[in-house]
Amino acid sequence: MIEMNKNTSPDKKSLKARESNAAKFLCVVLALITVFVSIVCVAVHSNNKKLIAAQTSAAGGDTVPSAKPVDATQNNNSVKPVEKTTEPVSVTETQPPVTHNTAQPGTIENPTIITIDEENWHLTLVNSGYRIPDTYSPDLVYVCGSGERLDRKVAEHYEEMYNAALKDGVTLTPCSGYRSYETQERNYNRKIEFYQGQGYSYEEAKVKAATIIMPPGSSEHNLGYAMDIVCVDEWFEDTAEFKWLQENAADYGFIMRYPEDKQDITKVIYEPWHWRYVGVEAAKELKDSGLVLEEYLGVA
Ligand SMILES: [Zn+2]
Repeated sequence: MIEMNKNTSPDKKSLKARESNAAKFLCVVLALITVFVSIVCVAVHSNNKKLIAAQTSAAGGDTVPSAKPVDATQNNNSVKPVEKTTEPVSVTETQPPVTHNTAQPGTIENPTIITIDEENWHLTLVNSGYRIPDTYSPDLVYVCGSGERLDRKVAEHYEEMYNAALKDGVTLTPCSGYRSYETQERNYNRKIEFYQGQGYSYEEAKVKAATIIMPPGSSEHNLGYAMDIVCVDEWFEDTAEFKWLQENAADYGFIMRYPEDKQDITKVIYEPWHWRYVGVEAAKELKDSGLVLEEYLGVA
């Protein structure tokens, strides 16, 4: 028994030892698996985080890219028109005589009807060859507390000039500003009748009348861009007002539109009282060069 015990006991011991070793091995394996699994978990988790982050940025990317192209196209759209709108400006800056009057001038009988170029509105040329349509309706305001109106865009410059003159002791009394198409037509027809009464034919009377009263649509008063200044008994050319205007009006964008020595081009009598807004740049160039608007715009 003892022997047997002796014989068997080592077997049992070795068996137990083996069992214990197997258990230890199992534990180690389990621990390793646990470690491995947790590493994998951590890796997957972190990968998921990255994935989520990537997806978020992708989602943001979706909104951003979807926003970006919108922005980009908006930018492109907003930039392109700006470029387009600024380009003509730079062109007109280097070439002042660019105007809407690219069409050939018409005649008193058959005038060219024009549309106002929004960008170069201040250079709009009207005369017996170029007329605005009878439907033209400017945005008018009363100037200097008077009963006379001008186009709102011109009125502010007139007021500025008026106040500057006032500081120099000169009052530029607004005498006749905007005139409606109908008023112009009535005045013009009255003048035609006057010349017919003097023995002129209707055709002759129309041409003669147009040198004093412009046909409807061809007067700068119909545009609301011109003001006849001061109504006094003396010849306007002899007044302090006229002298002040000659020296200073261009600084405010106004020109004497119908000079004495250019009547063959303007087809209008000398009118020292008629002052037209063309913008400061053009006014100064016209004053310095002695050109009239027709010559300046290249349609004389
Ligand atoms: Zn006038």
